[in-house]
Amino acid sequence: MGTVTMNLNELIQLDNTYHMTTYSRLPVTFVKGKGTRLWDDTGKEYLDLLSGIGVVGVGHCHPVVVDAIKNQLESLMHVSNLFYTEPQLELASKIADISFGDRCFFGNSGAEANEGAIKLARRYAKIRGKDAYEIITAFRSFHGRTMKTLAATGQPDKQRPFEPLPPGFKHVPLNDIEALKKEINGKTCAVMLEVIQGEGGVYPCDESYLKEIRALCDERDILLIFDEVQTGIGRTGNMFAYQGIGVEPDIMTLAKGIASGLPIGVLVASEKVSLSFKPGEHGSTFGGGPAVCAAALATIKVIEEEGLVDNSRKIGAHIVQKLEAIKESGSLVKEIRGAGLMLAIELKEGKAGGIVLDLLKEGIVANNIGNTIIRLLPPLCITKAEVDEALSVLERLIV
Ligand SMILES: *Cc1c(COP(=O)(O)O)cnc(C)c1O
Repeated sequence: MGTVTMNLNELIQLDNTYHMTTYSRLPVTFVKGKGTRLWDDTGKEYLDLLSGIGVVGVGHCHPVVVDAIKNQLESLMHVSNLFYTEPQLELASKIADISFGDRCFFGNSGAEANEGAIKLARRYAKIRGKDAYEIITAFRSFHGRTMKTLAATGQPDKQRPFEPLPPGFKHVPLNDIEALKKEINGKTCAVMLEVIQGEGGVYPCDESYLKEIRALCDERDILLIFDEVQTGIGRTGNMFAYQGIGVEPDIMTLAKGIASGLPIGVLVASEKVSLSFKPGEHGSTFGGGPAVCAAALATIKVIEEEGLVDNSRKIGAHIVQKLEAIKESGSLVKEIRGAGLMLAIELKEGKAGGIVLDLLKEGIVANNIGNTIIRLLPPLCITKAEVDEALSVLERLIV
């Protein structure tokens, strides 16, 4: 078990004393991960249906990713963005290859990628001589924890403790095109959406809604930003969620699933939009470092070579089919939402927190959003047999 010397109770003590009181954690400490499995300090094995929070798509400690990071660390860890480095530029060209985008900028988190997207959208408008800086986002959205991305996040209860928030954001109900039209005016520089809202409870955008928004944005030269921090990289049964609906954004942000757990945020944009940034207008000390980019390149390679996008779609459909059967059997299940391996089970009663704790006792890691939604974000490499094993436990707990 490596270098672990403290038990769970000792860690809880340290957390209660020395860590800021920002997280409510589950009562477990993991010391090892391999593929879809995790082990705690007592040696108990768990099936992971969460992957971090949709981070470890290729599975824990994938040997190809671990080797790529190790090799990079042994030759070069850091030099700053004052110099050219191969992993960063190879990764930028790879992302351009597999997406609508032409150019990338690398930061260290989802929030930072979204900060970059907001700056880029404002810059794009300003260069065109427009006094447009407002960004329209959806209620229930989640775009990050920095002040600007918190202002973008359409969740008043998360915002209120930190008011006043930076200005320039308007929120509209999701999938209501008329509500969006009402908010668009000469001050609007962008519309920013998650193709499937993640933290808000796994609520997908309608295809027709996104198509109408795309047309509206084209008409008025307003940018369409897709926050694919959670949906990105194979999670929804497509490499990127926008590909599943056939609506391309002008800007896309990535983070969670792209580097298997090393910190990364990617701002991706079309050539025309990318060129709005001039040298010196945006930057990052750590962003796009050699090790994290080597990890991302290896992660994408594994996703491609192991057919994980297809697996995500196939296994996702299998889970939905089984969950619908559980729902029909008159259980607590109210609704199943999501795509691929980004799924939510909404319950008729507020029992999600208790069920997630019960699952943990049974050796299954899942997540609840509020007390009515159970969220599943399993590794993209999960098998049908593993899913069946987990769902039979879930069915027992949920009925
Ligand atoms: C997690 C998440 C973020 C924030 O990412 P961090 O890396 O925690 O800053 C932003 N947008 C979406 C859609 C997310 O799911």
